[in-house]
Amino acid sequence: MKPAPQSTSMTLATRFFLTSFKLTSLAFLLSAQPAFSQLATGWKQHDMKRQLPAVVEPGQSNLPLTPPSDAIVLFDGSSLDAWQGPEGKKLNWIIRDGAMEPIESGGYAYSVQGFGDVQLHLEWASPLKVQGKSQGRGNSGVFLQSQFEVQILDSFENPTYADGQAGSIYGQYPPLVNVSRKPGQWQSYDVIYRAAIYQPDGEFAQPARITVLHNGVLIQDNVRPLGPTSWMQHHPYSNRGEKLPIGLQDHGNPVRFRNIWVRELPPEKILPPSEPYDPIRIEPNDKQIANLLGTYDRKGGGRYEVIRKDGKLFFTQGGPMMEMIPHSPTEFGLRFTAGLIEFETTPDGPAKNLRFEMGGSTNEATRTKQTP
Ligand code: MG
Repeated sequence: MKPAPQSTSMTLATRFFLTSFKLTSLAFLLSAQPAFSQLATGWKQHDMKRQLPAVVEPGQSNLPLTPPSDAIVLFDGSSLDAWQGPEGKKLNWIIRDGAMEPIESGGYAYSVQGFGDVQLHLEWASPLKVQGKSQGRGNSGVFLQSQFEVQILDSFENPTYADGQAGSIYGQYPPLVNVSRKPGQWQSYDVIYRAAIYQPDGEFAQPARITVLHNGVLIQDNVRPLGPTSWMQHHPYSNRGEKLPIGLQDHGNPVRFRNIWVRELPPEKILPPSEPYDPIRIEPNDKQIANLLGTYDRKGGGRYEVIRKDGKLFFTQGGPMMEMIPHSPTEFGLRFTAGLIEFETTPDGPAKNLRFEMGGSTNEATRTKQTP
């Protein structure tokens, strides 16, 4: 986004600022569809030539991870009330030793409540008794908005295709590393999920984004699914609603779950600010600026400098040069920080003192040196 010009009046600058913001937002939305069509991982699904992620040994387990106070607890070991079967049917899962798992041919479990953007924590354990291999060993998965599968698999010394490992966005993105624990041990996923964005008329605007930590290690870094998870094929995005259930896959293996909680995140929106970020009220003349330049010794130690460079005014306390935005001949804001500088001037013009407010504290300083 282009910054507002300094040399215009507040009204013009503010209009330009807001207009450029709207145009940028509109251009973004219009460009999103073609950009999406170019997205690709460069790999067909389940290509065995795709490099397997390196094995990383996780740190010592800190599980179970107690939910924070604002979390919606979906499973704490005591009840399956927050879950139902497909299409609202009865759930064919059981609680055993504080964990939930499907009974034979139980089908998927779906959260009764729908969710859009969330932080999700869940703990899972693949069967202690190792049976099967590759995709047939400890297979399950968590489906975000019922559409995008973060794969669950016993990937401890169990080779399979890279985009089907534990922590993969199934069929699309392998995990960055394989940080699986041994069969039967509790493991965690911490997921940050940002839903796809659709325009008000339903047109696709922006893909979903998924970040995953597996046993505390980053394995998916803000990846953009190419479309909903599908086996052996590819489907495009479709707007199925803002809030959809979180799904747990029944893949025929007795994978267990515990300690499942979510924090709903506010959906991301691109909106212009409701009021100008830092209104520009005036443009001081040369004499007014000259009256402010120089060194100011701060009460209690330290000093400030007011400097003119390339036609702009800057304020520094020995660190970064902060551009000053004039609100009046004696009052200035800062370009990027919510600070305020007020000058006290003598009757004939030159500043005598300044007061600098920032971050809840106020400092006063006396001008000890005037610079041209
Ligand atoms: Mg699966």
